[in-house]
Amino acid sequence: MEYRINKYTTQHEQTPGLEVLNIRAALIDMDGVLYDSMKYHTQAWKRLADELGLPATEEEFYVYEGMTGTGIINLLFNRTYGKGIDDAEAKRLYEIKARYFLEIGKVEVMPHADRMVNALREKGIARVLVTGSGQASILERVSRDYPGIFDEDKRVTAHDVKNGKPHPEPYLQGMRKAGCTAEQCIVIENAPLGIRAGKAAGCFVIGITTGPIPREKMLEAGADIVFDSMEQFADALPQLLETPYFHYKYH
Ligand code: MG
Repeated sequence: MEYRINKYTTQHEQTPGLEVLNIRAALIDMDGVLYDSMKYHTQAWKRLADELGLPATEEEFYVYEGMTGTGIINLLFNRTYGKGIDDAEAKRLYEIKARYFLEIGKVEVMPHADRMVNALREKGIARVLVTGSGQASILERVSRDYPGIFDEDKRVTAHDVKNGKPHPEPYLQGMRKAGCTAEQCIVIENAPLGIRAGKAAGCFVIGITTGPIPREKMLEAGADIVFDSMEQFADALPQLLETPYFHYKYH
């Protein structure tokens, strides 16, 4: 990992095409980054799918992470019946899934994520929450679990966007809320669709594997750098932020 970070911080003088990145804001995903919640989401989705008679596996819901809830419901209906369902019905079903999610278990804060967000704060880097989730049960906890990290006006949730990830809209909105350009933002993600959304918005994207999806899938989705755990990322971040710039090659 040392080598990979050094690669980003030492090559720009010699390598044409590398751009200076002056980070002013971090756009931070929620599920699977701030909370160890994905295992509960996948179980809740599977239970809903089973009850509706829609064939699905628990594992596939890791891959859909980042889409809006109604987007996932429409995907399931389209796949089984060749057509989606109306918006009101999709919302009603998403509320049932949200209830199952609550019933299944207590969501824990992601270990080491507090060190990560505090390292950003100490360097004066703005933090914006950017999530496809509309689940009040977790969103309401953010201020309590991460005190002083996310201002109320620095949050993008499912309620704020028309298009979920992998569409760039959530991260473009996050950039606007930060008052920064894409070149000034890093995106912190754990899911391939979220990584694609961050890249489509033009940002430098850091992938972290915190679930069963392997690092190769993060790189395939376009991640600029991948860490193998939140602990590893939290350990590396202060060093990464101490360098005057870190750099990347435009894809
Ligand atoms: Mg996530």
